[in-house]
Amino acid sequence: MNYQAEKELALKIVTEAAKLCQRVQQTDGGKAVKKADTSPVTVADFGAQAILCQGLIEGFPHDPVIGEEDATLLQQPELAGVRQQIIEQVQESIPTATPDNVIDWINWGNGEVAQRYWTLDPIDGTRGFIRGNQYAVALALVEGGEVKLGVLACPAFPREDGGKGLIFLAIRGQGATEIPLEGGNPLPIRVDPSFNFEQLYRIESIESSHSDRGVQSAVDRHLGLTYGAKQMDSLAKYGAIAKGEAHFYTRVPLPQFKGKKENIWDHAPGVVIVEEAGGKVTDLEGKPLDFSVGTKLSNNHGVLATNGVIHSQVLAALSKNWV
Ligand code: AMP
Ligand code: MG
Repeated sequence: MNYQAEKELALKIVTEAAKLCQRVQQTDGGKAVKKADTSPVTVADFGAQAILCQGLIEGFPHDPVIGEEDATLLQQPELAGVRQQIIEQVQESIPTATPDNVIDWINWGNGEVAQRYWTLDPIDGTRGFIRGNQYAVALALVEGGEVKLGVLACPAFPREDGGKGLIFLAIRGQGATEIPLEGGNPLPIRVDPSFNFEQLYRIESIESSHSDRGVQSAVDRHLGLTYGAKQMDSLAKYGAIAKGEAHFYTRVPLPQFKGKKENIWDHAPGVVIVEEAGGKVTDLEGKPLDFSVGTKLSNNHGVLATNGVIHSQVLAALSKNWV
């Protein structure tokens, strides 16, 4: 399998979904409504999921799709205005879309894990999107519990040429690349294989509730990390590691969320992108992430992504500093 048809479609639809996000950000600044779990969601989250699912329905109608969003919330009468904006935004990308189409496309993301499936997060890092920081349109293809293809569109990611906006793309066995968001040649990316902890960067979420900073600081001290942590919202953290701008990322469940499991769509594309760039991704015990069990990584405890060279050292430090 070389996944060329999957790659072409994935690139096309994440680019289109990212454009929708940028349009929404420019028009309403990413105004949010609250989901049942009180986390924010915007017109762009729903619109981007509709675009991604529509493309997958057309390209691979037999593949289940598991996306973060669901259109049930939009049935509330007070959200009629939001629903209308979503429809209008999707129609800018797909002029023939009817209101019913848009709702059906969003709900196409309610599929179930199978031998082969797609998982997507239309905006990972919605809080970053609202703040004008990093966010990612995330899409991955999983087969046999292993991520085979991952794409991350990161419209705010800073580039070497001074511009912003990168797509990270990897196919298992074929390497990892970055592509400017507005198009251009794919450039191979590699992790930075440095191993002297005095010269390495950890990377972490901006949201302090998403990982245990107490454990992370203890691990930093144990390893002799002097530069400390860069902070970034979303799966863009995996892109930063894959292109050598950071060296490791730990996601350690907080004591109050003990037993809380990570969502598959919050990690899947990042795993193959970092691994194909020469890095390594496991859980905090060194087990491979198992994408075969459902919408959560139920067989795993937290996540560790590194440049590969330092992986076992960070695992050892984690095992000595766990709560
Ligand atoms: P990040 O930008 O890395 O903080 O990741 C954003 C993602 O974190 C969101 O898409 C949520 O699904 C996820 N999330 C929300 N609450 C938690 C939590 N308590 N622990 C871990 N992840 C969380
Ligand atoms: Mg997410």
